Amino acid sequence: MIIDSHTHYGRFSQWGDFSPEFIIDIIGDCVDYAICSNLEGIDSLYLKSELDCNLDMIRAAKKYKKLLPLAVCQVDKSLDIHVMRHLLTEYPQFIGLKFHPECEKLPATSPKYDKYLELARKFKKPCLFHSGHIKSRFSSPALIYEKAKQFPDVPIILGHLSTGPRESHKEAIKILLNSIRTESATLYCDTSWIDFGTGNLEDVILLIKKLKNTPKGDYTNRILWASDAPVGDFNQSNALYRKNLDNFRVKISSYFNDEELLKKLLYFNVRDLYGLY
Ligand SMILES: [Zn+2]
Repeated sequence: MIIDSHTHYGRFSQWGDFSPEFIIDIIGDCVDYAICSNLEGIDSLYLKSELDCNLDMIRAAKKYKKLLPLAVCQVDKSLDIHVMRHLLTEYPQFIGLKFHPECEKLPATSPKYDKYLELARKFKKPCLFHSGHIKSRFSSPALIYEKAKQFPDVPIILGHLSTGPRESHKEAIKILLNSIRTESATLYCDTSWIDFGTGNLEDVILLIKKLKNTPKGDYTNRILWASDAPVGDFNQSNALYRKNLDNFRVKISSYFNDEELLKKLLYFNVRDLYGLY
């Protein structure tokens, strides 16, 4: 079993024009499920409302059983959380929430997130944040960590760990380790975009090594494999997707020589986090 923990569809987004069929074709039979959210509520030429983009996501997930929906939160556009409360109440199929501080241009530390995170706590939904460059004033991992500390019992995923160069990844790893050492937040991360340029997985390997050997023990359960498909040219066909997944398996297997670890990264961790039994 393999689950891709971070994918999308969305027509007319800044990253491309992606139908639900497109992501279904890309993942093909490479994975069993893909956790998915609708870019039409995040960044699109025809941006949809919080209600409409998420109802579309539910329809797509009903048609394509491989898609496990996340609800897109428009923290800065919605006036309050009644829409999101309605969605989570009526559609328990939403397994978690998706936040994009960079597209919303709303710093992750803003108090506007609080009501959403209270909902996440109430409905027991993990929250996937786009985690940007360490210098981003909206979505740096440090800002997300600040917010996560206010909700230590809500699992918060640093999507892409952080964007940017190795320095950005190292900083995000430090933040993860700090949260584990001090038990100040429940941070996870996904592996999408890390090392996408080289495919050598050097930074993913560094991340795994660091979390495997924390002073509190092995915390590799906090790492989820993800592609972010179809965002990124390297993600936009089944052949490329398969190549990237195979590369991940080969590099991680040969470096760590630990099949259980690989299974955790590809499946067990995401299953346990989202309760997908
Ligand atoms: Zn995303």
